[in-house]
Amino acid sequence: MQLTPELKAQMAEQKKQCVYCKIVAREIPGKIVFEDRVTIGILDIYPAKKGHLVFTLKEHYPIVPLIPAEEFAHFFGLAPQLSKALQSAMVATGVNLFIANGGAAGQSYPHFLGHFFPRDQRDGFFNFLFKPGKSLEAEKVNAVQRQLLGLMQNYFAKNPRSWHTGLEEIPSFLQQIEKEAPVLYQDEKVLCVLPQKSAVPGHIAVYSKKEEREITKLSSEDSAHLFFVASFAASALFDGLGAQGTNILLKSGFSDDNPEGKLCVHVLPRFQGDALQGILWQPKQPEYNLDDLAVKIKDKMWNVKYTESKTEAFVEQKKIIPPVLKIGEEKASAKSVEEEIDAAIRKMVQ
Ligand SMILES: [Zn+2]
Repeated sequence: MQLTPELKAQMAEQKKQCVYCKIVAREIPGKIVFEDRVTIGILDIYPAKKGHLVFTLKEHYPIVPLIPAEEFAHFFGLAPQLSKALQSAMVATGVNLFIANGGAAGQSYPHFLGHFFPRDQRDGFFNFLFKPGKSLEAEKVNAVQRQLLGLMQNYFAKNPRSWHTGLEEIPSFLQQIEKEAPVLYQDEKVLCVLPQKSAVPGHIAVYSKKEEREITKLSSEDSAHLFFVASFAASALFDGLGAQGTNILLKSGFSDDNPEGKLCVHVLPRFQGDALQGILWQPKQPEYNLDDLAVKIKDKMWNVKYTESKTEAFVEQKKIIPPVLKIGEEKASAKSVEEEIDAAIRKMVQ
């Protein structure tokens, strides 16, 4: 996408002061446990819990909508392998990946960050335990859905995928969910619904059709697509709902806040002073040696490697079958991705 000169200047200024850019450039030290051409994984020096890994892109992007598609696919394509290595090092039964977009969502640093947390049952971490709240009013559902369908159509038009045939089979492990929850969007790889027990109005749940429980079992391509849809759902909440920020939260495997061990990416609209304040953690000094832990985790990262799958490569432009509207009868908005992103960025960086 094209950035305005003002935004470019603002980003260049940010970059000069950015701690993460300085860690990447080795200007300041970091507990680096993983690194490749595009990404870097660092242990958080004020961890929310043991094994808290900050995974980020080497290039400075303030928020998710600014990340170019190739780097996005690389970053989220590595999520299954990174989760597996982290879980293995920490002997964990599950994992979270937490992303904050915007100050209202708890973003305190202008360099995009993904926080990985290894999870266990009875690990005493309850920040991501959702209390059921109100569901979204019908007219707002329509507004969010219109935005999301428009973004997905644009995405597939620009990045045609060989697997994208328009067939939408529901695997048995998602049939109950599809029956009970309003479907916002689905394709061959994901089912995107308004969950029955929504934490806040506008809470969107994105399920993988390829795997019921563990992100670690997804291919790079399936993982990247799961997060592409989650990030478009987040953009849809900005424009469809007027959200001030969004959280993207992966739950995978068993933990007290995921008792069924389902694989799901939750997308949460955020507003100043909303009911989700408890999702954030307080920075605290670890009571163990971070260097020792870094060695232990790094030891499991040696074979983590991003390889673009053959089907992921952009294919010839072909006829795109538009998704079927399941709620309301209105057509998807024709607004371009650039316009959507531009609007989202304006809201976030002002
Ligand atoms: Zn930076």
